[in-house]
Amino acid sequence: MTKKQTRARVIKVYTEYINDPEKQIKEYKKLLKQAQESADLYYIGFVFHMLAVAYNMLGSKDKMLINSVKSLAVFEGTGDFEMIADAYITLGAAYYNQENYQLALANYDKAYSIIKKHRMGGTSRLAVLNNLAGVSNLMGDYRSGIRYLSECLKLSEKESPDRSPELLVYYTNLAESYMHLGEYQKAETILKDAQALSEKVTVISYICDYRLKYAAANYNLGDIKQGNKNFDTAMKLAEGAPDTYSDIEIFRDLTRLLLKNGDRERACKAVELLTEYGKNNSHTMVQLTVTGTLADYYRAVGDTERAVEYYERLAKLYETRTRELKQVQLNIHKSLKDADASISKLNKLILESEERADRDHMTGLLNHAAMLRIGDEFIETAAKKKEKIGVIFIDIDFFKKCNDTYGHAKGDEIIKEVARACQAEETDIIRFARYGGDEFLGVTCGLEDEAVADIARRICDRIRKADIPNKKNPNGKRVTLSVGIVNVAVTEKTDTIIQIANYADKAVYYSKKAGKNCIHFLEYGRTSVTGEDDPFVKIEF
Ligand code: GH3
Ligand code: MG
Repeated sequence: MTKKQTRARVIKVYTEYINDPEKQIKEYKKLLKQAQESADLYYIGFVFHMLAVAYNMLGSKDKMLINSVKSLAVFEGTGDFEMIADAYITLGAAYYNQENYQLALANYDKAYSIIKKHRMGGTSRLAVLNNLAGVSNLMGDYRSGIRYLSECLKLSEKESPDRSPELLVYYTNLAESYMHLGEYQKAETILKDAQALSEKVTVISYICDYRLKYAAANYNLGDIKQGNKNFDTAMKLAEGAPDTYSDIEIFRDLTRLLLKNGDRERACKAVELLTEYGKNNSHTMVQLTVTGTLADYYRAVGDTERAVEYYERLAKLYETRTRELKQVQLNIHKSLKDADASISKLNKLILESEERADRDHMTGLLNHAAMLRIGDEFIETAAKKKEKIGVIFIDIDFFKKCNDTYGHAKGDEIIKEVARACQAEETDIIRFARYGGDEFLGVTCGLEDEAVADIARRICDRIRKADIPNKKNPNGKRVTLSVGIVNVAVTEKTDTIIQIANYADKAVYYSKKAGKNCIHFLEYGRTSVTGEDDPFVKIEF
């Protein structure tokens, strides 16, 4: 399968069960089995990648992490830098979900350096820049956040100016980074410039976020009128839909700003929305923001009793958070250990299936395709060392008659017996393959003529001693072999193994014509005393 076909096959599962990650996982696991059997690294890596995506949809953080680690490990083996970059992005996201922002950043960074090195554009580059900015800001590195976002904006304006929703998000985030640095004027200018863009966007959460941050910039600059306008627009948009907010931290900031302005009414609205949001989201970080804001609010409006209650809750939440962070580290440690173990198991599986793909099922010898590959590798080595490459071509005599007389199963047994004779000769520099039905091909590297001839002698001798009946064979009424040999000195420009095997095939043909049950050595490129080109020399055994 080509990469494109592989992608299409895997993505089909995703699109077919787009809202059912559990079903996706089931299907991916089936594909994974197939992929592992075919030992196609790209296929395997891509399935792991999609498994990570599906587990993310299910909210299984640990499984997302394990599968992203596996996908990256496999893709690294393929050298496909686009997929490696994507795998780093997914792994970064997995760490982000695990709340390990350092490792998230490190992986996004890695993806980004690959993307830059190979000058990749498009969605991967935008995604990684946006993610890098997000994590940098989360870790308080707002300057880096600004750098990544500015690049992100430049790139998306150039590459996809029609993607206004994303652009609005990038502008909003950029302004937010400046606000964190206290540069409110800069933030306000950016947000003002994005106004026309915001009117084209229809994603409510994006517009809300934009308006709320715009309001914060206004309030910080003392422009209460403009701030209120933006705040009210956002509130109206989000009416009855508190889940609309992607970033609730802004409510904490706005509540404080509004209280400072003495605008209890709007502050109360912000707090109400935040409380509503907190009811639907039990994540400790969300609860910390909600509880902290409520505590500040009640203190500011003079409700000391409630303020104390919320501050006490806040203290407990901090304890929970500390425990969670410890657990996060432990989880990551365990997931990585699990992933490590399954990667080595996977590598073993891949090696085994590659081995299997190289073998002839019936005899366990190398198959035709593997022989061609190994033969050409031998030629390369021999060319460097100025050594000889030998080919031994073996064909069973009157084999059709064996089948006809004793049946196909018996025929198979004979093929296996000849294979065993070949196998007995195998070393690092002598390899045998089942080349076709009753044909076997041996390739040797760096042996002298006599040593190559000896291999053929021993094989024929072993078959003679095995004394396998073939009553239709006039040569002793037993199974015999016809063999052809060449042993050629190779140079840088030497032929392929197929060409050398063709010379050996000529020698087999000569043996057949000479009455079968014999070995002939083709002295390739040499002229005999009788003036005959490429003379055949009989090898006695
Ligand atoms: P020759 O002496 O000239 O080589 O004659 P031959 O009868 O051996 O004929 P040839 O080599 O052309 O034919 C090989 C036969 O081997 C043809 C096919 O029916 C049989 N064959 C091929 N693969 C298998 C197999 O896996 N098992 C069995 N039992 N027979 C096979
Ligand atoms: Mg034959």
